[in-house]
Amino acid sequence: MIQIDLTGQVAVVTGGSSGIGLAAARLFLQAGASVAICGRNAERLASAETALRDAFPGAKLLAAGCDVLDAADVARFAESVRVAFGRVDMLVNNAGQGRVSTFADTSDEAWREELDLKYFSIIRPTRAFLPMLEQSPHGAIVCVNSLLALQPEAHMVATSSARAGVLNLVKSLAVELAPRHVRVNSILIGIVESGQWRRRFETQAQPGQSWEDWTGELARQKKIPLGRFGRPEEAAQALFYLATPLSSYTTGSHIDVSGGVARHV
Ligand code: NDP
Repeated sequence: MIQIDLTGQVAVVTGGSSGIGLAAARLFLQAGASVAICGRNAERLASAETALRDAFPGAKLLAAGCDVLDAADVARFAESVRVAFGRVDMLVNNAGQGRVSTFADTSDEAWREELDLKYFSIIRPTRAFLPMLEQSPHGAIVCVNSLLALQPEAHMVATSSARAGVLNLVKSLAVELAPRHVRVNSILIGIVESGQWRRRFETQAQPGQSWEDWTGELARQKKIPLGRFGRPEEAAQALFYLATPLSSYTTGSHIDVSGGVARHV
């Protein structure tokens, strides 16, 4: 296994209080980095902080309440990271959630909300942390995106469309920031077991149906070649690769973490 020592480096993970973001925070801490996570729900954030401190005693960890759609919140978060750690080397734009809706049932307001979430959850943190990323000898931004960017689903019309725009945005950012030595990449995920799927399980599963049966049935219905949902740590490992100098010659690109669902060559 390749070992990488991130001692002295700082990783920021938006939406680090659950699922993929929390798994990414673990990997960065395990590699010796200082880590800052954020989220909106104070209880979820506190429980993630406790879990991380229990797993990594003495960890340099900052957990801050912050809605990435609120410019003032994001500015405060960036300032608290600067005060606590003095630098940022890696930014993972992960915060967010999907929206299940067809064209027929997506209102103007829902379209605006979805476009706002998908774009500004990247634009705001990127803008706020860029001055510190530029100071790093190996600044990197990684965005959590979805395979829907390339392979849209009609029942997630607004999310799919916004995801395609984000894929395009990552490419432009990569070109603009390359001369400033900041790499920008994304991961395109399929279905990953996480908070949002746990919440869907609670509302949609048949009485008595287990999590394994429910997710196994969905994986069959969705024809996932690897036959199961991904695990948060599997998405986090791809994020980790793209955020660290392990991928020092890669920018404007993406890794598919969809269990083989992508149909294009
Ligand atoms: P989780 O619900 O487990 O985690 C989402 C995290 O983002 C939580 O920490 C949540 O905390 C935080 N978050 C959400 N909105 C905001 C916001 N506006 N400001 C700050 N934090 C926010 O889900 P996942 O781990 O699955 O999701 C991670 C990313 O992956 C999301 O962007 C999601 O859309 C994307 N994705 C996930 C897929 C999957 O199958 N799991 C598929 C495709 C994409 P809080 O709610 O407290 O703010």
